[in-house]
Amino acid sequence: MAASDLVNLSALLDDAKCFALVRQHRWPEGARCPVCDSGAVIRDGHDDMQPGRQRYRCKACSGRFDDLTGTVLAGRHQPLRVWVLCLYFMGLNLSNRQVASELGLDASDVQIMTEQLRRGLVAKTPAVELTGEVEIDEVYVVAGHKGQPEEVAKRGGSGAAASWQARRDAARWRRTSHRSLA
Ligand SMILES: [Zn+2]
Repeated sequence: MAASDLVNLSALLDDAKCFALVRQHRWPEGARCPVCDSGAVIRDGHDDMQPGRQRYRCKACSGRFDDLTGTVLAGRHQPLRVWVLCLYFMGLNLSNRQVASELGLDASDVQIMTEQLRRGLVAKTPAVELTGEVEIDEVYVVAGHKGQPEEVAKRGGSGAAASWQARRDAARWRRTSHRSLA
């Protein structure tokens, strides 16, 4: 029996805390304008339909944005808490089919969601240029093929990089969530 038959997990999540999680994840040092990257940003009320979704105004370029502007989560049909659970399940290495079962969604919808999440939460910002000392945590090493490279390739060796990225993002998200939801 799927857990969703017993407990509707997403209904137990607090929307306001999910938005707080996104803010903490994308702006650990405080909100920045997604257009001009200025930190001179003032809060400007909340979304009419989603009270936990903070709106902002940039004092530098007068641009308006909110917690989800410029992320893969903006303008989606699923509520934010469903995305948060999806990311959490990805971190547990559940298959798309298992995630779909837990969330009560179509596997094809979940596949689209997980593909987007693997590309990163903030999809539309320019690539970050790393300089100086770069710290990489939570590195996963794929075991050697022991003389059977065909077997490794068959088991999805080409997807290894993408799934590593997803696990790393999910692990980071979980750490963030523990901090900000504590
Ligand atoms: Zn701006």
